[in-house]
Amino acid sequence: MPKDDSLSFLLSLELVPQNFIITFVLMETKQQYDIAIIGAGPAGCSAALTLQDSRLKVALFEKNEFPRQKICGDGICDRSINTLRAINPQYLEEFLSTQTYQKIRNTRIVYKNKSYVVDFKNFGYACKRYEFDNFLFSLVKRDCQNMSIPQNTAVTSLQRDSDGFVLTAQNNALYHAKIVLICSGAASSLARSASGASFDRNKMGVAIRAYYRGVKDLQEGTIELHYKKQYFPGYLWIFPLADGIANVGFGWHLGQPSQEKIQDAMYNWIQQDETLRQRFSDAQQISLLQGGLIPYNTTDFNCYGDNYCICGDSANLIDPISGGGIGSAMLSGHFAAQIAEKAIMTGDCSKNVTKEYAEMLRKRVQSEMKTRYSIQQKITNHTWLLDVLAFVGKQTKILNCIKKWYLE
Ligand SMILES: Cc1cc2nc3c(=O)[nH]c(=O)nc-3n(C[C@H](O)[C@H](O)[C@H](O)COP(=O)(O)OP(=O)(O)OC[C@H]3O[C@@H](n4cnc5c(N)ncnc54)[C@H](O)[C@@H]3O)c2cc1C
Repeated sequence: MPKDDSLSFLLSLELVPQNFIITFVLMETKQQYDIAIIGAGPAGCSAALTLQDSRLKVALFEKNEFPRQKICGDGICDRSINTLRAINPQYLEEFLSTQTYQKIRNTRIVYKNKSYVVDFKNFGYACKRYEFDNFLFSLVKRDCQNMSIPQNTAVTSLQRDSDGFVLTAQNNALYHAKIVLICSGAASSLARSASGASFDRNKMGVAIRAYYRGVKDLQEGTIELHYKKQYFPGYLWIFPLADGIANVGFGWHLGQPSQEKIQDAMYNWIQQDETLRQRFSDAQQISLLQGGLIPYNTTDFNCYGDNYCICGDSANLIDPISGGGIGSAMLSGHFAAQIAEKAIMTGDCSKNVTKEYAEMLRKRVQSEMKTRYSIQQKITNHTWLLDVLAFVGKQTKILNCIKKWYLE
């Protein structure tokens, strides 16, 4: 925001206190919004799309420029698809008719050289995040023309005032919003500054991925999850994408007690396992191996307060077993937007209203997350349970149980 040239002139007159002038000038130059959404990933775009018909003044801030890369396994699960449909059924049709993807039909779980195929009806789609996120963002650009959508604009700090938050962006530009939806991804310092929560390594995974061409025996529509006791809840995945490309990745707990580097663990696994070595013998890694954090959900939902809601990875909404978070991110953005609109319309942006967002999440997400987290903890502490699961794995009941863990 351009500095007001008259400021130095007014100060030089020394007729009024400097603080007053500075406050006055800043108030004058701040853009005022009802709702500010920070981050245009799946959570932020879902929030923006949900607000497209509102008459409110909304801004969506994004620190990068689209299309932008997002490191991911590219598994777009059921919950993402259902949320897209809930926002507007037309969007799902558009996704299916314009994007490149593979429908996921089965999951192959591999443990100790044995594989178990779980048949997932309607699990979702494997689609590069570069494309999926750009698809969501282009819907926002097209259908939310009443919004302000600054790209290359990182919000660097949030400061509470009597009527909401003052947002400072790059170049010290200032904005004001009555309610802020923090959708800025994993380990968000903005979320921590609003909620006072601290960064907790014990609730964090880390994962890496690269694209490969020429991996043998990929089966169309079948994603693969390979497990080893020492890395649980982490696993190695191979997700086939369109055009013979596979997304190959590996994740583990951030506090994994291991001397290995994560990339060595992944490459060594592929090299030391005879079947995988054979399958990768002619494969070509066609991208960098890159990674990111996996803030998985434990049991606490630190996601709302006076004048704010926290969504997606910023609220640690990743599934503690599958590591999937796109669906919960989209659903949380969709819910938070509805509550933010209600808060503005009723003139009450306090936590009395924003807690309704947490309640919606609790009903739809938290009870299953709680179960999954307790399963994750039990298996992590008693890895022999994996042998038990593998032993009975061919039985339908157990497969259905595993299916439940992964279905979103
Ligand atoms: C290696 C890896 C593999 C994964 N695989 C899968 C998978 O297969 N399926 C699945 O469902 N999930 C997967 N996940 C998790 C998934 O990527 C996240 O759960 C999902 O991206 C969360 O969406 P979000 O909108 O909350 O955050 P993000 O997608 O991270 O979006 C946040 C956005 O905010 C912007 N931003 C950040 N800070 C600021 C700021 N200060 N100001 C303005 N903008 C800002 C960022 O540029 C970004 O665009 C994986 C994660 C990793 C690391």
